[in-house]
Amino acid sequence: MKRSESKMEDSKIKENKKKVKRAPTVATATLYDILHFSHNTADYSKSSLILRNSLTGKKYLIGSVSEGFQRLVFQHNTGVQFSSFYLTGRLNWSSVSGLPGCLITIADALEQLKLKISYPNNYLKFLLATTRHFILRKSINIDVDTKPESKQEDGFTVTPLITYPVSVEPGNIEKESFSESELQQLDDIISTVFKQSLPAECVTEGENNMDEDNFGQISLAHQKLLNNLITKINIKPHTTSYHIKFENIKGTFNAAKANELNVPNGRERGILSNGKSITLTDGTIVTPDQVMGERKSFADILVLDIPDNSYLSNMKKEILESNPDSSVDLNDTDLYYIFLSSDFNINQDFIEFLEVLKKQTSNQAKIFVSHPKISPNEIMYDQFLTKILKKKKKLPNNYPVPNDDRIFSQKFFESYPSLKKFLFNEKEVKMDGVSNENTEVCLNNEKVNVFCSRDIINNKARNSSETNINCLTLNIKDRKEFDLSEKINQISKSTKGSLPLNPVFFKTLDSESAHEVEVMTLGTASACPGISANVSGNLLKVPYYNTESKEKSLVFGVLDAGEGTLNTMRRLFNENNIKYVFENFKFLYLSHLHADHHLGFVSLIQEWYKYNFKDESARLYVICPSNFFRFLVEALANEPLILEKIVGISCEEFKVNKRVDRGTYLNFLYKGKLITEDNDNLIENCYDALNMEKLETVAAIHCAFSYSVAMTFKTSIGLQLNDKKLFKISYSGDTRPSNRFATKIGLETDLLIHEATFPNEFQDHAFKKKHSTVGEALKVAEKMNCDNVVLTHFSQRTMDNIYKDILPFVKQVGSKQRFTCIANDGLIVSSESLPKCCEVDVQRAYKLMKRTSMTKTREGSDSDSE
Ligand SMILES: [Zn+2]
Repeated sequence: MKRSESKMEDSKIKENKKKVKRAPTVATATLYDILHFSHNTADYSKSSLILRNSLTGKKYLIGSVSEGFQRLVFQHNTGVQFSSFYLTGRLNWSSVSGLPGCLITIADALEQLKLKISYPNNYLKFLLATTRHFILRKSINIDVDTKPESKQEDGFTVTPLITYPVSVEPGNIEKESFSESELQQLDDIISTVFKQSLPAECVTEGENNMDEDNFGQISLAHQKLLNNLITKINIKPHTTSYHIKFENIKGTFNAAKANELNVPNGRERGILSNGKSITLTDGTIVTPDQVMGERKSFADILVLDIPDNSYLSNMKKEILESNPDSSVDLNDTDLYYIFLSSDFNINQDFIEFLEVLKKQTSNQAKIFVSHPKISPNEIMYDQFLTKILKKKKKLPNNYPVPNDDRIFSQKFFESYPSLKKFLFNEKEVKMDGVSNENTEVCLNNEKVNVFCSRDIINNKARNSSETNINCLTLNIKDRKEFDLSEKINQISKSTKGSLPLNPVFFKTLDSESAHEVEVMTLGTASACPGISANVSGNLLKVPYYNTESKEKSLVFGVLDAGEGTLNTMRRLFNENNIKYVFENFKFLYLSHLHADHHLGFVSLIQEWYKYNFKDESARLYVICPSNFFRFLVEALANEPLILEKIVGISCEEFKVNKRVDRGTYLNFLYKGKLITEDNDNLIENCYDALNMEKLETVAAIHCAFSYSVAMTFKTSIGLQLNDKKLFKISYSGDTRPSNRFATKIGLETDLLIHEATFPNEFQDHAFKKKHSTVGEALKVAEKMNCDNVVLTHFSQRTMDNIYKDILPFVKQVGSKQRFTCIANDGLIVSSESLPKCCEVDVQRAYKLMKRTSMTKTREGSDSDSE
């Protein structure tokens, strides 16, 4: 018996070996899920979808990887591991701005990662080389694919479609903007960023500190090449769309049928199932269709990305008019996505485009349209909103009311009225009033849909002969839960009593509190964005008396801005307020070169430009470690007009007791160039523009080129003309507690913003990671003789433990009172309103302590009973 058993064992092994050799017998997915991942809302600015193979779980993103991407991945809970990113639309920094943060997180979460990033233009390589400044994780194996050919994935093919606007003559399209050797060198740079393996002894456990000080480090030859390429970047405008064609799956092998036909077991059956005929010993020919079930097929997908109306006519030619040169076969395409940018104007041409598309497609086709005037301004980060609203209930004057305002396209919803009802029920929505006499209701409208995030399409295989059977099912998530008014009702109910909806922050300058210097903490988490708190970002609002216009006025600026800072502003301010902020926005200050503090800079700069490009004299001051200039110059290489308006001054120039070492360091960015001298009084002009008396920095104790800062503003509102009132605001950036900061520049600070990454009991963590604990931060405040402290930059895991550590500072009653508060995303605080915030946080501290002591006694009695 034993022998026969082992024989069986042997034959099994042989069989398995055979199987291994015959590898292609992999099970095939019969279902692909398409998750509507994102569209243009206040929280995120680009459209995208995720295609998922339900069998292997492999995921593919089609769209843009814009700022806030990883936060959205956490929110959707889709997991960070993607197989490929297929970037659509026009390529610029904003189509990849979410990539660096996402890659850092992926690399930290996974041991090894293989990811393909695809866009059919070599500019992608340049943009990825730009991320060398902060990726610095060597465990990511990235394949950058810029070829315009079709790409084979597991079970489907992706074909890029390139469309030019009408203004670009087809004959004028240059094949390549970079030479072969330049491309080779770009590849080298990318592989040093991503694929270089480090010698083992450099890798310290759980810490990436051997990497982090290398911001922008690159060989001289490569830097020279990039400097040279910057001048060559002049990409012909074009947009990229994709056609996704699925492979058919073969039917199942019908063994009973095979027995009936006397097909012997073994090799012959394999041949048949691989689609070839066999001849039996008696000469009978058996064909595959005699023993195989019917083949199955999926609905193919077309994703169109249209940046503005100048692309529409060429898009029409390629998609709607049967084009013999066209590389795509739309016959089996039933699922259509049309991603429209905010610059796209929804007009009769577009409605006609949709109508022709409707006519050309089969009955079961679905067409999803995404545009900021069509898709609702959905709340993407649910917990973030809930938290702010709950805080507002306790501190009505210190938290804003988030908004989901949106103006919709009248043209679109008049053409497809059923969609309006479907989307908003009976709710009144604002329409843009743009319509014309041509508008008529489009009939038979089962095909056109509004693209909403979180919806899922199931693309299920159907028998090839049953082409009239629908294989697409749309699963709609309950939209109500993402509605702001619904959320406000919920919170009013759950906490008893209505939620105050009073406006804050944009109080008129004549009001009582108009003289207050206010800080809004837009992001308060350290390291990585969470669902309820984003990475660092602080917006500063300083009132002053404008002696020229003889009017009261405001200066806005940021102290650090991590990825997604602009998105938070868009969610918390309405459109008018955003305009007001950016028209008066004068500076960005960066404390150090960690990605969680600066990945939001480029989009803030772009947003500022939108409101100031017409004003020839408008300048934006960027005060940062000088290495950051190089990143700005590269990221904005395709937008030279924006660069022209930036005046960059290194933090080094503001250092107390700085050594004047002229002509050595590239400490200024001026007119798009890095320079060593302040020839044009840039520092003086900066002081004037910011209405500032003094700005001083000291080196922080954190990483190379990290700084703490003290800014003294002249704020004279509420006083007589020419009376000077100074307001000193100090910001630690990331640092261990610093004597220099406290005593060299921070003495007599009016309002201190200090990092407090860890609670006191995590002292060892704080020491190792070069951060401060709550107690340490408050000691610094004491040394400064500062009685108003805002703590921020918290490690989210230890949040609750933070509160009790503020008590010693607050309690210590001397001749005067001291106040501190724990910042949350959206908090607006001034030295005047701080006492109220402090009171609420102290209450919370006692509550949390009571709760912990109760759990402790419970745990104690539990163990006793055991
Ligand atoms: Zn840091």
